[in-house]
Amino acid sequence: MPPKPSPAQRIADLRQRINYHNYRYYALDSPEISDAEYDRLLRQLQELEAAHPGLVRPDSPTQRVGTAPVAAFGEVEHPVPMLSLGNAFDFDELRAWRQRAVKLLGNDDFDMSCELKIDGLAVALQYEDSVLKTGATRGDGLRGENVTANIRTIKSVPLRVQGDAVPRRFEVRGEVYMSKAGFQRMNRERAAQGLSLFANTRNAAAGALRQLDPRITAQRPLDIFVYSLGWPLDATRESDWGAMPEDHWEAMQRLKGLGFRLNPQNRRCRTIGDVEKFFRQWTEQRESLDYGVDGIVVKINDFALQRRLGDVGREPRWAVAYKFPATQAVTKLLRIEINVGRTGSLNPYAVLEPVDVGGVTVRQATLHNEEDIQRKDLRSGDWVTVERAGEVIPQVVAPVASRRTGKEKPFAMPLECPKCHTPVVKAEGEAMTYCPNASCPAQFYEQLKHFVGVMDIEGIGEALAQSLIAAGLVKDAADLYDVKKEQLLELERMGEKSAENVLRAIALSKERPLEQVTFALGIRHVGGETARLLGRRFARMDALRQATEDELATIDGIGPTIAASVAAYFREPRNLAVLDKLKAAGVDPRRVVAEPSGPQAFAGMTIVVTGTLETISREQAEDLVRAGGGTAGSSVSKKTAYLVVGADAGSKLAKAQQLGVKQLTEREFLALAGRAI
Ligand code: NAD
Repeated sequence: MPPKPSPAQRIADLRQRINYHNYRYYALDSPEISDAEYDRLLRQLQELEAAHPGLVRPDSPTQRVGTAPVAAFGEVEHPVPMLSLGNAFDFDELRAWRQRAVKLLGNDDFDMSCELKIDGLAVALQYEDSVLKTGATRGDGLRGENVTANIRTIKSVPLRVQGDAVPRRFEVRGEVYMSKAGFQRMNRERAAQGLSLFANTRNAAAGALRQLDPRITAQRPLDIFVYSLGWPLDATRESDWGAMPEDHWEAMQRLKGLGFRLNPQNRRCRTIGDVEKFFRQWTEQRESLDYGVDGIVVKINDFALQRRLGDVGREPRWAVAYKFPATQAVTKLLRIEINVGRTGSLNPYAVLEPVDVGGVTVRQATLHNEEDIQRKDLRSGDWVTVERAGEVIPQVVAPVASRRTGKEKPFAMPLECPKCHTPVVKAEGEAMTYCPNASCPAQFYEQLKHFVGVMDIEGIGEALAQSLIAAGLVKDAADLYDVKKEQLLELERMGEKSAENVLRAIALSKERPLEQVTFALGIRHVGGETARLLGRRFARMDALRQATEDELATIDGIGPTIAASVAAYFREPRNLAVLDKLKAAGVDPRRVVAEPSGPQAFAGMTIVVTGTLETISREQAEDLVRAGGGTAGSSVSKKTAYLVVGADAGSKLAKAQQLGVKQLTEREFLALAGRAI
């Protein structure tokens, strides 16, 4: 076994690695590891140095901020250093931060400013005689890059401040950022030009601001939130601003008065409990913001207390960053596999080396389609940035091109279906590639799963669906209704009782209404809502079968693409044969005229359901809304009467809170619907 490295060796090794990642992150705007991974390295180094204080050096990355400015920009010296922030990764660490401050001050009676930690890059803007003189990046904290010309292109940076009572010289600090929409647009453009992609909004903003040609910056959608007064006034001209602001919050309000843009979500908090509440609120709602945030920043407001607390190393003691769980990680893309969907689409997905993203292990990520993979230039064997944001399935954002070894394999869509080997087709102008074989087993397996799920046939899970297909008992959905008990009993792990239950569930499903059966058929472009429109327009399946494309297109909510797809489905002889078989087996669905049962509790209201409910499905909840005379909406607006909130609600909840839309728990909703539980 090799000898265990000494603390000095481990420290030297960590410093070297951290310096390398600082350079990639701050100078090149192109990190190779995730922030969480970087934070772990830095923490290891901090802990080792704390245990061996004799080994601390002034040039250690624990003592220094960022990295040296890139010479080509020219430099701006920061009269007051621009520091970093200490991090708290959980509530205990946050509490410990406050406790330390209380102990040093001998006072626990102070208020704090709770601010969103914007994921962009820090800038310092110096004003003289009301005019913007310089704009600089943080650089190494003492000297930053002179990016004045670029800063001037950001419309929300006042080139001249408003008002009479303006200090002659002052500096404001803030975060330049790029909106999520702007970031996506920029990455699309870069992909089209064959340039490498940015991993996140922070790197994109930094890349856009740190351009040698301001005309390029001007084309980038950059914005700013100002978050502190860097240093205030010429001592001699204090009176220009009336009395000096005594605390950070007040200073910020003055800056707002001068025309600077502050983040509207910032709050003044008195207790650590209030801080925690602010943190929790934004942990849940951060996806609803159009800009990236990676935590909150908590600052003790009073300037006098700030001065008393001072700094330690590269961090002020009076402020702390309390980080949200990570949404990004860097991991290896082991290979790209294909899943054949129920409409025959070939859906590529990434098989990843398992990686923890904010407490959840991610093993796979969606890759949409072939063009998306080519656009991002993803190759098997690449290191990639993956993102898990809100309720969305993990995505691969970009490859880390600098970590390529040359052994990575570019992706090509197979020419034949990976399951049934039929040559695939790709229609002109369509992004998706399809397996055209309607009896492709992979496709049919997905179709059967969908059919069974939508028809509420209990007892047929994925394993049984597989065995029914493998045993040749079910070749289309109608075959389900012909399955005999003896046949079921021959399948693995199928006992007398479960066979009977399965057959009973199949028989019960014959009574499903037209809208449900229409959805279950799995017609391309027909989701639950479209199926409902169709199922309520026609009295019987036979009438729907005979509807012309034009007739379908007259239905409110059904556009030409859907109408064409439905008409094509009912022209296909194979589908008609299945429908005939279904009818012969007793599946002959009719329209349900939703007789509003129960009280008309929701008459005239639009109600939106979000998250996972406990006792009923979202669809059932929406049926209750309709039964109560209301409309089931799909997005929250000012007109929404109620938002029914289930577990893991995301952006809709945030929107409702923002608009002041009333919320109902599942229990409250059921009680209103007359279904008290
Ligand atoms: P920091 O990001 O933890 O905190 C300081 C910065 O927060 C400020 O400079 C400012 O830019 C920003 N900020 C945003 N909103 C603010 C607000 N309301 N008030 C005050 N400041 C606000 O510290 P840092 O030193 O800039 O860098 C550390 C961050 O960069 C970490 O998140 C780290 O993971 C990441 N990083 C990553 C890599 C990598 O390779 N992935 C390398 C270096 C740094």
